[in-house]
Amino acid sequence: MKLHWQILVALGLGAKRNWHIFIALILGVLCGVLLPIDRVPIIKESLGFLGEAFIRSIQMVVIPLVVSAIIVGISSLGDSKQLGKIGSKMIAYYSIITFVAVAIGIALALFLKPGDGVQEYINQQTAGAVRNQVEMSITHQKEHISEMYLNMIPKNPIESIAKGEMIPILIFVIIFGSALALIGEINRPVVSFFESVFATTMKVTDWIMVFAPLGIFALSATAVSSFGITIFSNIWLYIATLFIGFMIQLLITYPLMLKLFSKVDFIALYKAVAEAMMVAFGTASSSATLPVTIACCERRAGISNKICSFVLPLGATMNMDATAMFQTVAVIFLTQAYGVALDPFMIMQVALLAVIASSTSAGIPGAGLITIAIVLNGLGLTPEQLIQGFAFLFAIDRIIDMFRTMLNVTSDTVVASLIASSEGELDYDLLGNQDVWKEVV
Ligand code: ASP
Repeated sequence: MKLHWQILVALGLGAKRNWHIFIALILGVLCGVLLPIDRVPIIKESLGFLGEAFIRSIQMVVIPLVVSAIIVGISSLGDSKQLGKIGSKMIAYYSIITFVAVAIGIALALFLKPGDGVQEYINQQTAGAVRNQVEMSITHQKEHISEMYLNMIPKNPIESIAKGEMIPILIFVIIFGSALALIGEINRPVVSFFESVFATTMKVTDWIMVFAPLGIFALSATAVSSFGITIFSNIWLYIATLFIGFMIQLLITYPLMLKLFSKVDFIALYKAVAEAMMVAFGTASSSATLPVTIACCERRAGISNKICSFVLPLGATMNMDATAMFQTVAVIFLTQAYGVALDPFMIMQVALLAVIASSTSAGIPGAGLITIAIVLNGLGLTPEQLIQGFAFLFAIDRIIDMFRTMLNVTSDTVVASLIASSEGELDYDLLGNQDVWKEVV
């Protein structure tokens, strides 16, 4: 069987027990395409309400889940040697996967030139101003980068938690968890407290997931209906560039990494995490998908709780390879649309900033489109200056977001299985035996 069919079958099989989610997704897309949802306000609003309610309720558990999972995860690693070993493997794998994504994005965007086709829609005067701006800038951006790094250190962790600023929260929780791991037996009350918080948030998640089919139906229907069909004719090459890049990542990069660094069969893994992939696709939020990702990895992919609770929450916020690829392609698309010639230095700048910008993106819908400003900053530009070009990106971003989130989540599970396998924390018998897989959603 051809590889892409195998993947589709894997997704379908993974959904065997949870066909209702799969059906909800397909039905949502079909309704979005076939029905004039956008033109019937009551339906549009009701679907919008249902989708939003689902995302909000799942987001409700994200911060307690992330905080408790990382604290329990790190403190269960025990000694600093193990923490350092697993931590550095995680950073290495996440970096490799993201740099590969960016490289693929650059190669495809330079080769396929998706932005050339929209040049005629861009006001030539603005394009000239943009070109001048790019020429003049670059250097003073360094200040912004150092400021950005400073903002990652939370002055007040409670404030960061209240505001839901994921990177400062992660930094604090990692430091707190590491210290907790090193203070010996005295850490028991705090660790057991967070163990209870973790178990409770997973329980709440199970309840929320009862509504997953409805939520995912509503989300996909509104997403599909909200962009016009005509827009496709102008930017099909941009969509195609991203789609090819995403497919290369999903069908070549991840399987290759699994083959090179472990004995994990990628089809088995994709089957095991199919629900997480679908929820990611439906919600366009890695963070909202996190509880399902953890459940799939633990209950089906055979990855130990120790690895899941450390690697996955960090991955849901920091490992955004598909977002990095999207940002690279989108920025090159914009420069092509405005006729800005990119030299190798600028391309390197875009690549590096896409890695940073993507990892600072929260795992929520549309985050990647907002942090793209960081990458544009590297060229001395702001999104407002490119508003005509941005309009194209905005119009179809939700759909692109659904795909990139699905990849972001899949790559988290790939990295978790690589680390688990190298640490002897992966139960290959469970991964390979679908009959004993437990319910996830
Ligand atoms: N929605 C993506 C995610 O949650 C982030 C992005 O906008 O690219 O993974």
